[in-house]
Amino acid sequence: MSELVESIRERYLSTLEKIAGAANHVGRNPESVKLVVVTKSQPVEVVRAAIEAGARILGENYPEEGVTKLQSMAGVSAVEWHMIGHVQSRKAQLVAGNFNLLHSLDNLKLAKRLDRFCAEAGRSLPTLLEFNLGGEDSKSGWHAWDESQWPSLLGELSSIIALPNLQVRGLMVMPPLGADAEFSRPYFQKLKRLQEYLVSQFPRVDFSELSMGTSADFEAAVQEGATLVRVGTAIVGARQYKTEV
Ligand SMILES: *Cc1c(COP(=O)(O)O)cnc(C)c1O
Repeated sequence: MSELVESIRERYLSTLEKIAGAANHVGRNPESVKLVVVTKSQPVEVVRAAIEAGARILGENYPEEGVTKLQSMAGVSAVEWHMIGHVQSRKAQLVAGNFNLLHSLDNLKLAKRLDRFCAEAGRSLPTLLEFNLGGEDSKSGWHAWDESQWPSLLGELSSIIALPNLQVRGLMVMPPLGADAEFSRPYFQKLKRLQEYLVSQFPRVDFSELSMGTSADFEAAVQEGATLVRVGTAIVGARQYKTEV
């Protein structure tokens, strides 16, 4: 095993242990949490090493970069590729054709384009709905920090749910950058409450996945109900370059 694989493996396993510890702490089954290893802005060698180290789900932020990597890994191993970054409408076809799960659906126009490209490709795309719970204008996601405004989201969300080639599976949040996990915890709790609200409004829709928590705060996210955590730097180290802006 190369030194790179060895070091990623150590951090991958220790992250899994921390996930299990956080889950056990609140009486959850550790197996109900999936670890997405975020390899955005990392070279292909790091992706290959992460897979060799045991990673089974890889998260990418930029469609072109992600597709280049997943194509170069084709046949290497059975891994899932998740798109976790904001998707511009003109990148919808790349995402519809290549990824196993979209975490970051954030508008109806994109949803309609994804649905159309999925139909053309003869596939369907599992997707999560991204919410902005911090109220920052710069962040993507449906603005949902004010709970009294939640009913106003329902019209657009029901249009998305009705699209035949998108399969809604849950919710995602990226809290404002904070000092520590305790800063993020209220946002995770709020996403959980929003999940309960959407389940009550759309009882036949599957909202079971909660994608929340990064290197800085994944243990708090697991304690609050995360089923997918997105961990990059804590496993694969600092990002080295950015291939798309
Ligand atoms: C980069 C990124 C992550 C991973 O962040 P780390 O701090 O490297 O763990 C998780 N989620 C999203 C949406 C990201 O853009």
